[in-house]
Amino acid sequence: MQNHCPVCSDQKISRSFLYKSKSELLKSKSINICANCSLGYMKPMPSEQDWNNYNTEYFLNAHGGINRSKSTSFFKSALAKLRFQYISHYQARNKLKFKRVFEVGPGEGQLISVWKSYQADIEYWVDESDTSVHQELLDMGAIILQKNTKLKKHSFDLVIMSHVLEHTIDPVAFLKKATSQLKPGGLLFVEVPAEDHQYKDINEPHILFFNKTSIAECVKHSGLKLRQCSLHGNTLISIKYFEIFRKVISKLLERLPKRLVMILLPSSLKNVLGVNEIIVSFPLAPYKYQISSGRWLRIIAEKE
Ligand SMILES: [Zn+2]
Repeated sequence: MQNHCPVCSDQKISRSFLYKSKSELLKSKSINICANCSLGYMKPMPSEQDWNNYNTEYFLNAHGGINRSKSTSFFKSALAKLRFQYISHYQARNKLKFKRVFEVGPGEGQLISVWKSYQADIEYWVDESDTSVHQELLDMGAIILQKNTKLKKHSFDLVIMSHVLEHTIDPVAFLKKATSQLKPGGLLFVEVPAEDHQYKDINEPHILFFNKTSIAECVKHSGLKLRQCSLHGNTLISIKYFEIFRKVISKLLERLPKRLVMILLPSSLKNVLGVNEIIVSFPLAPYKYQISSGRWLRIIAEKE
């Protein structure tokens, strides 16, 4: 069992505190903060087999399956559009063309459907362990990576990984493997929660807790060059104390005539999101860029 930082291998820690969980497997664990790269990581880490079993169980049962309520769908599509915008701004600035994309853990495929609506001929590969969504992904035009699929070497232009890395025991090995078929100059997009141990009552199912420093270190150890790194959503202070007020405002906005809401909203937002997407995402503000702290970290890295 490893007792060092899974990103930089340093054994020194700056802090250690209780990991808050409900499940048997993760009881009496700690979160250690690496003194070198400031990654928060579970100690001791579960064994690979225990962790795989836990994830299968958690996402299929304890998690209650996939939430398909209307507001959740609007929220997920808002997030997918914002991620697409983040990547495509970088793409436009650097005059890049993407032909083959590979997404690890696409879930129900919100990003695929956004992508296909802008670029119908994109070759969109996915690796998704939840087989219950496979048919949905195929219907959207995704190509599902199978265990025996032989991939053309270094043929992907972009690898996408959204809310995956914080679930991995060995994030560096995971990134190396996922980006192994990236072509030179190909990009990696990652989104992870930013230090969510600071405000969540329950830490599971995450075992890693990133900030700007530790995600940069993780990218470096994976042999990639960090090109962009930013924080999004509400600040940690706002999450702790003011999110409840934003939820009330969101509820009020829901009751107003949509036309009036559209008039009240800034045009920069209206160009990207629909009115329902803005209303449901308003409490968490995923469209906001933040300097010091935020709910989400987004990065773009390049394979050299
Ligand atoms: Zn470290």
